[in-house]
Amino acid sequence: MKVDTHVHTTRSDGLSTVEEVAKRARHKGLDAVIITDHDVLYEGPSEIYGVKILRGEEVSSSAGHILALFVEERIPPGLSVGETIDRIHEAGGIAIAAHPFDKLRKGIGKLVYKFDFDGIEGYNGYEALPRANKKAIKAAKELNKPITAGTDAHYAPHVGYCYMIVEELTPEGILRGTPVCKKVPLIKRLKVYVKRKFR
Ligand SMILES: [Zn+2]
Ligand SMILES: [Zn+2]
Repeated sequence: MKVDTHVHTTRSDGLSTVEEVAKRARHKGLDAVIITDHDVLYEGPSEIYGVKILRGEEVSSSAGHILALFVEERIPPGLSVGETIDRIHEAGGIAIAAHPFDKLRKGIGKLVYKFDFDGIEGYNGYEALPRANKKAIKAAKELNKPITAGTDAHYAPHVGYCYMIVEELTPEGILRGTPVCKKVPLIKRLKVYVKRKFR
């Protein structure tokens, strides 16, 4: 199965609704998407147009962005990295360092080496700083951590550029999955940059 693990909607700074995201995901042959709006937990239908909609949040910790996948309750922003990870685990989820070396987009940087994340987002489809993905993959390999891929789509037509191939749609399935990623071309991202001050 294919699942895009990092998708924004109009509930935070995305341009598209979850229905538009689901329609695009179906068109791209994805089985699921994880909705990861900034500091907002997805609450809505668990399936739209035959695409599974999984619960996530991109948490603004005091040091940068952390993906909370499969959490059952909202994690508040502004907590330390350690506390954010603990809260994600208490809420039944997995904590992934989002685009850690994309400093322009609030990656947590070298702190990725200091905290026990469940996985590291090595492939982010909106990579802004050159080599940010490469550094994240290098860190994951050094730390022997699972590497995830997610588009970080802020607009429905971008969904499905980066995704995981998984055997099951569970936290373990994501962590054991295979990342696939093609960056969203900058020219296509411009629409998002112009329309919305995206994070
Ligand atoms: Zn982010
Ligand atoms: Zn994001």
